[in-house]
Amino acid sequence: MTLSPADFSLAGKTAIVTGANTGIGQAIAVGLAAMGARVAAVGRSPVDETIGLIGTEKALPVRADLSTTADHQRIIDETMAWAGSVDILVNNAGIIRRQDAIEFSEADWDAVIDTNLKSAFFLSQAAARVMLKNQSGKIINIASLLSFQGGIRIASYTASKSGLAGLTRLLACEWAARGINVNAIAPGYVVTNNTQALREDPDRARAILDRIPAGRWADPGDIAGAVAFLASPAADYVHGVVLPVDGGWLAR
Ligand code: NAP
Repeated sequence: MTLSPADFSLAGKTAIVTGANTGIGQAIAVGLAAMGARVAAVGRSPVDETIGLIGTEKALPVRADLSTTADHQRIIDETMAWAGSVDILVNNAGIIRRQDAIEFSEADWDAVIDTNLKSAFFLSQAAARVMLKNQSGKIINIASLLSFQGGIRIASYTASKSGLAGLTRLLACEWAARGINVNAIAPGYVVTNNTQALREDPDRARAILDRIPAGRWADPGDIAGAVAFLASPAADYVHGVVLPVDGGWLAR
């Protein structure tokens, strides 16, 4: 096969991106649109800013709360009614709760697992029911360095992101031969709401920066390129990977 620019194009594809109102999800939505995709931008908060960045012809706002599975089928249905297909799903929405393990509450456990892991699985299932009919689709989960490492004070987050890495591999094994690529990105430390508490702690912020070979935290846009690649035909033979985009953190 000879590579061509078309192998990296998302023209004619429809993507669903969750948590698209801000941070990494917004950067992914804008990035996939720049590569030619139409984007259903899913947010529990208004996604107007993201729609404005992409343009109303190529972006659909979908309001949905992913702390339960209640809105999942409606996300798929609204996207199908708008675009007629679901080719790419990016499970990006996620939350984090910080507390020492010894004090960690059941509520903080359940909230994080429900949003970061359970919701990603059942939305993937709903999207795959469409993708399997076409024998074609790309599912990209936003994992974390905590898919590989332990961390501290974020028990449910580490469990959810380690679980998401395993789920990525399981779904790849089940669906690879049926035309769906399931992969994950593991962002390093990115400047978003998610890391505000870390960045406001001078000791933690300095320790983190000192360990990043690239010498800087990531910008949300740093994550979008790898997602666009995994969503593209160029990645048709890539299955079940958890790709770090971390400025070299894990190489250290
Ligand atoms: P963020 O700015 O806090 O964005 C999180 C997104 O998830 C927001 O759009 C948020 O919506 C959405 N969300 C949370 N709960 C939701 C729910 N119940 N229903 C619908 N949407 C919900 O943080 P981010 O850093 O961009 O995080 C995006 C993803 O990257 C997360 O999965 C996170 O774990 C992962 N990640 C981040 C980093 C990092 O360093 N920042 C590193 C590794 C992985 P609202 O704005 O309405 O809350």
